[in-house]
Amino acid sequence: MEQIKRKPLLSTNNHKTIKGEKLGYMTYIMYMSPYTANSKGINLCSHASKGCSDSCLVGSGFGGMYSNVMQGRLNKTEYFLSSRVEFLHQLKNEIAKAVAKHKDKAIVTFRLNGTSDIPFEKFKIFDGKNIFEIFPDVQFYDYTKNYLRFDKELPTNYHLTFSRSETNHKKTMELLKRGFNVAIVMNELVNNINGYEVVNGDETDLRFLDKKNVIVGLKYKKMTGSGGKVKNDLAISSGFVLDTAHIKKAELQEVEL
Ligand code: SF4
Repeated sequence: MEQIKRKPLLSTNNHKTIKGEKLGYMTYIMYMSPYTANSKGINLCSHASKGCSDSCLVGSGFGGMYSNVMQGRLNKTEYFLSSRVEFLHQLKNEIAKAVAKHKDKAIVTFRLNGTSDIPFEKFKIFDGKNIFEIFPDVQFYDYTKNYLRFDKELPTNYHLTFSRSETNHKKTMELLKRGFNVAIVMNELVNNINGYEVVNGDETDLRFLDKKNVIVGLKYKKMTGSGGKVKNDLAISSGFVLDTAHIKKAELQEVEL
């Protein structure tokens, strides 16, 4: 049978990873098609909100023409959906190669959900272990909107930051109270919300280096070009982007997140 030549699943060339490189980290990120953008319409972001999926699909090009990059992401997604075991074995091989390539040169880290929200900890296909457990000395991290992933103990080398949207305010506060970190997209960074320190999440993407029990503030990147203003206004009015102007006025007191 003819072997299909597969493209790499992981990539490094990204503005997010360059900031980490200055700190001695080499970050590999896997980008797939977000939400239901695949031929089967299967949702790879089980807890996505309308605000985040709209912004993710448009922001990553799925709202418009399919570029080569988008096609590459789609191909990976179709591969994952049709041949999961083969996909995970390829991922394992790529991780092993990346670790070997940077040995003694950089600390290698991996973010598997660049534009998806797949609970990879569930796939225990490597003699009963998942992808994180077979690389116990390697640091993995992700953002997630799936609060259920915090209910089970995660591998110690897998760091998860909960990601707020316009529909999960209560869960955001609950997870903060339980001691986890949450990321909030806001129009202007503030220092403190409801007594929780806000750290600047745009300095690097290395979330596992953040202090414990903080809010990771991510400044909303305004979309430019045609329709940009409408989308930017929608991002704020939908509540997906936290409008911090009124928090400043209220002197960072109790904010209805
Ligand atoms: S959950 Fe994350 S990756 Fe999925 S659509 Fe929302 S923002 Fe995008």
